[in-house]
Amino acid sequence: MTTRSEREKAQKLNEQHQAILSKLLREDDNKYCADCEAKGPRWASWNLGVFMCIRCAGIHRNLGVHISRVKSVNLDQWTPEQIQSMVDMGNTRARRLYEAHLPESFRRPQTDQYPPATSFSSHLFLFICSTGGKSPNPGLL
Ligand SMILES: [Zn+2]
Repeated sequence: MTTRSEREKAQKLNEQHQAILSKLLREDDNKYCADCEAKGPRWASWNLGVFMCIRCAGIHRNLGVHISRVKSVNLDQWTPEQIQSMVDMGNTRARRLYEAHLPESFRRPQTDQYPPATSFSSHLFLFICSTGGKSPNPGLL
């Protein structure tokens, strides 16, 4: 059982987290889905530190929680660690990190040529393979 003050504390923390997330979403880095570049992402993969649209969030869910941990920006509760991961990474850093592990011949697919899922998620897969299955680490940059 939680006391009233614990509930209030949790609610306050949640409001702080929401404020941080909406600030991050206003930054140019995060205004577009990391996968398909759809405008105004409302979902995120907190272990990868990227914001994405609802469609790509569904694709990430299908990748499994060992690769991508998806949360709604507005509808889910966040922990301080998850928030910190989003602050540390963000779409631009994440893309730079994953793309550094791609062969030079790789070209980001255009959304009108391929299903959007093939863009960032394929980068991700290549990255995960190249690191032997370990999660991307912001400290690598
Ligand atoms: Zn998307």
